[in-house]
Amino acid sequence: MSALALLGGTPAVEGPLKPFRAIGERERALVNEVIDGGLLSGFYGSWGEEFWGGPMVRRLEALWQEKLGCRHVVSVNSATSGLFAAAGAIGLSPGDEVICPPTTMSATAVAPMFYGAVPVFADIEDQTFCLDPAAVEAAIGPRTKAIFAVNLFGHPARLAELRTLADRRGLYLVEDNAQGPFAMEDGRPAGTIGHIGVFSLNVHKHIQTGEGGLCVTDDDNLALRLQMIRNHGENVVRDVAIGDIANTMGLNFRMTELSAAVGVGQIERAQEIIDGRVAVAEHLSAGLQGIDGFSIPAVRENCRHVYYVWTARYDPAVVGIARETLVKALQAEGIPAAGGYVAPLYRLPMFRERRAIGRDGFPFTGSNQAYGEGLCPVAEALHATGFVTYEICAHDPSPAQRDQLVAGVRKVIAGAQELAAWEAGQA
Ligand SMILES: *Cc1c(COP(=O)(O)O)cnc(C)c1O
Repeated sequence: MSALALLGGTPAVEGPLKPFRAIGERERALVNEVIDGGLLSGFYGSWGEEFWGGPMVRRLEALWQEKLGCRHVVSVNSATSGLFAAAGAIGLSPGDEVICPPTTMSATAVAPMFYGAVPVFADIEDQTFCLDPAAVEAAIGPRTKAIFAVNLFGHPARLAELRTLADRRGLYLVEDNAQGPFAMEDGRPAGTIGHIGVFSLNVHKHIQTGEGGLCVTDDDNLALRLQMIRNHGENVVRDVAIGDIANTMGLNFRMTELSAAVGVGQIERAQEIIDGRVAVAEHLSAGLQGIDGFSIPAVRENCRHVYYVWTARYDPAVVGIARETLVKALQAEGIPAAGGYVAPLYRLPMFRERRAIGRDGFPFTGSNQAYGEGLCPVAEALHATGFVTYEICAHDPSPAQRDQLVAGVRKVIAGAQELAAWEAGQA
C-alpha cells in the first residue's frame, strides 16, 4: 500500500474529477426552438389560456406528469417557490405549526413561516436520516397543520407511514423531494405520496434548468391553489371556482419558456441521468462494504435511493480518528468528501433570536416553541461526527476514478493508526 497522501504519499485518485453535467444537444435544440419562436414566456397574470403558461411550460408539466403518473404538475421557478406555494395552498395560517426535520435545506422550514406558521423540529432516523415517524407523532399538538417531510440525500422518508399518520390526524403531508427524483417507496415514486410533492430543478440537482421546480399533486383544488400562488391569483379569483379565497393571492413563480425547454430535454432523459448517478453511488457502496465504523448508506427495504449525496455513517471511536482528520485524509487522496451536512436548522439565528418577519418576532409571537440545543439529538450527533458525505450530483468520475475513489477510502481507513499519530502531533 502506498503512503497516505496527507502524510506525503501519492493521492489515490488521479484527478481532477470532472463536474457532473448532463446538458447537451437535446437541450440546445429545444432552447433554439423557443428562441426561433420568439416567445420567452407564455404567462399572463390574468384570466385566460395564458394564465396556465406557455407551450413549453405546459409540455414540461405534461411530461413530468406522465413520468410520475400523478394527476397534476405545477412548474415553478425553484423548489423554494414550490414549497412556498405548497405552504399557501394547504391553507397555513398564522399560529399554525408545521412539523419538519432539522436536517434539510433551510427552505423546508422557512416556506411555511411566510404564512405565519411556526416550524416544530422532529428528529430524524439514525440510518436513513429522514423524519422519524415516532418523533413526528410526539410533536403533533393542537396547532399542528402539516408535516413537511424531506427525502434527504435521495432516500425516501417513511412516506406511506407518514401519510397514514397525517390522514389519521387530519394533517397535510408535503414532501420536499428536491433531492429525490425517481426515488421509490414500495413501487411508488417519492413526491407522489404526500398531498403535495416538490421537486427542484436547481443547477446542483440530478436534473436541472439552472433554477426551477415542479410541484405535483393528485388533488384538483390544491393544484388550482398552487397555480394561483404561482401567478397573481388575486386577479383570477372571480373567474375560477375556488371556494375559500384565503391564501390565493399570488406572486410571480413562473418558469420561462427557455427554462422549460431545458427541462423538457432533461426530463426526456431523466431516467438515464438518474440511473447514471445511482450507478456511481452503488459502485462506492459495493466497494466500501464491511468497514467497521464507516458504514455505506442504508437503503430501507422496498425503497430506491437515488443518491443526491452518498452519505456514510461514521463512528470515530471505532475507526480511531476524528472525523475532521478522516475528511482531511480523504481530501488529500483526491476524494471530495465533506464532514457533516447543514447544521440542525434550529441553530440558525432566526430561531435562536426568534426574529424572522418584521420587528416584533413574527411568526414566533404567541408560540412557545423552543429551539434550544438538544432538541433533536440524532440530528445533532450526525452533524457533529456521524456524517461523511460525497456529492454524487457534483462530480462525474471516470470508471478508473470510481475504483480509485474506493481504493482511496480503503487506504485512509487502513492508515487510521498512522493518522491517529499524526492527529496527536497536531494537537
Ligand atoms: C435544493 C433544495 C431545496 C431548494 O431548491 P431550490 O430549487 O434551489 O429552491 C429545498 N429543499 C431541499 C432538501 C433541497 O436540497
